[in-house]
Amino acid sequence: MTIKFCGAAREVTGSSHLITLEDGFRILLDCGLYQGVDDEVEDSPVYNFNERWLFSPQQVNCLILSHAHIDHTGRVPKLVADGFRGTIYATHATRDLCAIMLADSAKIQEADAQFDNKRRAPGTPERKPLYTLKDVHSALRNFAAFGYEQWFYVHPRVRVLFRDAGHILGSASVTLEIREGSRTVLFGFTGDLGRPSRPILRDPQPMPEVEYLICESTYGDREHEAAPAELERLFHIVRHTCVEKKGKLIIPAFSVGRTQEFVYMLDQLHRAGRLPKVPIFVDSPLAVDATEVFLDHPECFDQELHQYMLEDENPFGFKELQYIRSVEASKQLNHMQHPCIIIAASGMMNAGRIRHHLYHNIENPRATFLIIGYCAPNTPGGKLRAGATSLEVFGERKQVLAEVEVMDSFSAHADRTEMLQFLQNQRASIRQLWLTHGTLDRQQVWRDTLLQHGFSAVDIPALGQEYTL
Ligand SMILES: [Zn+2]
Repeated sequence: MTIKFCGAAREVTGSSHLITLEDGFRILLDCGLYQGVDDEVEDSPVYNFNERWLFSPQQVNCLILSHAHIDHTGRVPKLVADGFRGTIYATHATRDLCAIMLADSAKIQEADAQFDNKRRAPGTPERKPLYTLKDVHSALRNFAAFGYEQWFYVHPRVRVLFRDAGHILGSASVTLEIREGSRTVLFGFTGDLGRPSRPILRDPQPMPEVEYLICESTYGDREHEAAPAELERLFHIVRHTCVEKKGKLIIPAFSVGRTQEFVYMLDQLHRAGRLPKVPIFVDSPLAVDATEVFLDHPECFDQELHQYMLEDENPFGFKELQYIRSVEASKQLNHMQHPCIIIAASGMMNAGRIRHHLYHNIENPRATFLIIGYCAPNTPGGKLRAGATSLEVFGERKQVLAEVEVMDSFSAHADRTEMLQFLQNQRASIRQLWLTHGTLDRQQVWRDTLLQHGFSAVDIPALGQEYTL
């Protein structure tokens, strides 16, 4: 059999790896969207990545998804539109998140194409969206969902196991047991690895001992800061902004995962009677849908949350908290003068409704922006993190007069030590490790760390590189 690296090779996004068995059966692991900027550079290995395939979609027999993040699933509708007819295997929660996240992605693809077409020079061809909502609906018909810890067959000689990866709701590591001739091979794919002791989700569970493993490397070169008393820190920021300054606290947050984690913290403060009586708004239609999916999947919750829910059956809602879907209700928040808390996407403030909140509040010293996630340096979020004193928003130069706070303990990716702990049961069994899903400089540090810790064959495959096992 062979393994070919068709995405997230020396890159963080676009996850996709193809296994081809001796009998020609092809299994694709993940089918992610490339989300960087190098796909517009003609001599880059990822040039035009999202538009082309390193295999023929018609010849792929099945697809297995590790989790619902768009950099792991965002090209599924295109795969189906381009001729893939096999089954898409995922956990129950991943399937449900895909239904809303791929629909959201299609809307973005369609809006981007429309925007470009309005500005195109006369005579140039119209840009088509990568896929449409209709393609998403076709793709959703091909899903088959399985729970954690259940072996299931994708081929008479291949069975698969999902085990909790603790990264986002429904995330799984994927183990394949492949029988070829007289040998049986255990092949693993970590997907993205989460962190132990985070709220809501269970800790990552170690995978069965495998011989071949594709391992992520996002933070393979660093350690996360220890989570300081998060709840206390949040309490003080809320008090300072909403009570002392009588202003708005605005939190840019990704709609799936980060928003629910944050709302759960507010829920805990509310239940302890510590939240000031101010209205709280989750201003994102995707977050509304995602929160419903969370409530549908208690099988992904950790013991602490189950315990919490014995006394509070909705950890993502309370009286003062309002979820906002409509554009009109969102616009009304711009004119609101009294203290409130607003959570809106995107987390980097480069898209979505948060840009309007940025536009209307960044010059108000009574407002506070609380950044709780990674922001690429060239995004408004990245610039605020770096201490910018002015920003361009909707083409207008704005002074940064609002306060900016950063809480960095929300990462959904394991750091170096946490990944080493996750891999410790694999040391004796592993014959070959491949590192994917990381920038090359970080992957090299991660590879050296693994070599120092007793792993021997550790490769960093290039895009399109193929190995025979
Ligand atoms: Zn992920």
